[in-house]
Amino acid sequence: MQELLERKKGLHRSVLIVDDEFIEREMLGAMLSDIYEVSYAENGSHALDIIKRDKLTLSLVILDLHMPELDGYSLLKIIRSDSELRRIPVIVLTSEKDAEVKSLQLGAADFITKPYEAPDVIRARVGRSIELAEDSIIIHETERDSLTGLFNKEFFIEYGRRLDYQNDNMPMDAIVLDINRFHIVNELYGRDYGDLILKKIGNSIHELVCQTGGLACRSGSNSFGIYIPHNSDLREKLSQYTEKINESMGDQKISVRMGIYYDDGSITDIERRFDCARLACHKLRNSYSTCYDFYNAELHSKELHSERLINDMDKALAEKQFKVFYQPKYSISGEKPVITSAEALVRWFHPEFGMVSPGEFISLFENNGLIQKLDIYVWNEAAAQIRCWNDKYGISIPVSVNVSRVDVFNPQLCDILTDIANNNGLSVEKLLLEITESAYTDNAQQIIDTVAALREKGFKIEMDDFGCGYSSLNMLTSLPIDALKLDMKFIRNICTNPKDYRLVGIIIDIARLLEVPVIAEGVETKEQMELLKAVGCDIIQGYYFSKPLPPEDFDKLIEAELKEGQYAYN
Ligand code: C2E
Ligand code: CA
Repeated sequence: MQELLERKKGLHRSVLIVDDEFIEREMLGAMLSDIYEVSYAENGSHALDIIKRDKLTLSLVILDLHMPELDGYSLLKIIRSDSELRRIPVIVLTSEKDAEVKSLQLGAADFITKPYEAPDVIRARVGRSIELAEDSIIIHETERDSLTGLFNKEFFIEYGRRLDYQNDNMPMDAIVLDINRFHIVNELYGRDYGDLILKKIGNSIHELVCQTGGLACRSGSNSFGIYIPHNSDLREKLSQYTEKINESMGDQKISVRMGIYYDDGSITDIERRFDCARLACHKLRNSYSTCYDFYNAELHSKELHSERLINDMDKALAEKQFKVFYQPKYSISGEKPVITSAEALVRWFHPEFGMVSPGEFISLFENNGLIQKLDIYVWNEAAAQIRCWNDKYGISIPVSVNVSRVDVFNPQLCDILTDIANNNGLSVEKLLLEITESAYTDNAQQIIDTVAALREKGFKIEMDDFGCGYSSLNMLTSLPIDALKLDMKFIRNICTNPKDYRLVGIIIDIARLLEVPVIAEGVETKEQMELLKAVGCDIIQGYYFSKPLPPEDFDKLIEAELKEGQYAYN
């Protein structure tokens, strides 16, 4: 760049005059040599040697068209088609009108007619051609990334917009391509090697857009943007593209990932299209098996929603937006069903989204550990509720709380639960702990140790969602548990599917052997309830008896039972 600016000031500009006629060369040279450094060639091939040798410094070539060996047209074609020589402007020397048009079509910057015009006119033509070429290089350099030769991001977006406009908003696919763990490549192998990789990827992308049409840019240190006409075969083509790019790098340790906005007409602005492609690419950050993915609007809005819930969680806890509902569990072994306990189930009353069900946020919070805070909140609420019923009605209803698999890894779990019971003046067996069966399979030893410690303190453990996990029957005998909760899926079809009914019977037989009660959840109909009773199920939870209720509604169930003088707790 510096060199170019100096040349622009008139220093070091050099002109090559190519003509087989000695006199013509000398005449032109005489007109230009007080301004430029002039060199000469007497035929095309000699000229080509000089042009290649001085390609970085040569400012202009003045070229006669008729010469032996390599003629002017052929040399002009070579210069224009060589990416390293193309920047050098060429003025042709002609004496025929036809030749002027032809040489301009071949990419000549201008022409000088023979016999020569006045020296001032020639000097002006030469000067102007050099200026124009240099200006276009400066423009080219600001709009391009110096390492890869691809557009810079700003120009890319601008030209992309123009392209959309000129092509009547023809459908275009947007691709963001990132190099996996590029910072490590730089650190391990040095910046020069990193630059080499970037150049190679830049070249492959350049080739790609040459074939497909469209534009490409380097949009960040290890990130590229590709904007190509929409292709319905893009899915199939992508693996070819990736393979080609990976091949071009010649280094199996380095790989790329691509996020794609596949034009379905839903987004028309180029920048928004690239935002979407970037999101798709971003999602692949930690995936080593998948190298490309498509933007999916529905998925994205779900992710945004999840993100909102995660962000709002702390405030929601502080503002008590979480409310605990209670679903009764009924003992059906006697003549009349009676409440034996309740399950605490959390609901989120979000100021914007209304009531959010735990199905939407529990697994989300389990994935990032936030569940621990929420569970402690629910355990405290549940213990306070047991206390409250105790104070209000003089009865002590046990409440089961869900203990997430993440909680099991908290070494303080036992102390936290004990403190909660103590703070509310409860004996620990009033807090029943529901632990999902799959937690047992995920980390059997850890959970067996934790559960054993909890039981030693007096807590009762219910194995939740039994039948969903894998531990199932063979592990059952060695697991320290106090009750089995049958997963809802078994109950759903017991009336219509004899196999399911039989399976429930077998599980209940095993539970009897282990001397633990079986709780069936998700019981919705009288028929289901009666079949379960017939097969020896002890406890029922489900809509047939009651949905999960806010405490004030649960109060009414207690009051009704008290009125009838029938209850199972004391
Ligand atoms: P889960 O522990 O299996 O709880 C039973 C779910 O079944 C509850 O859904 C309950 O409302 C629903 N249910 C009860 N009876 C019926 C019925 O007859 N038919 C049908 N179709 N559904 C019934 P909910 O309240 O939406 O909770 C979903 C899951 O969220 C729970 O499944 C539990 O795994 C989790 N969860 C809820 N509250 C908490 C909590 O405070 N902490 C933790 N860690 N997880 C919780
Ligand atoms: Ca449960």
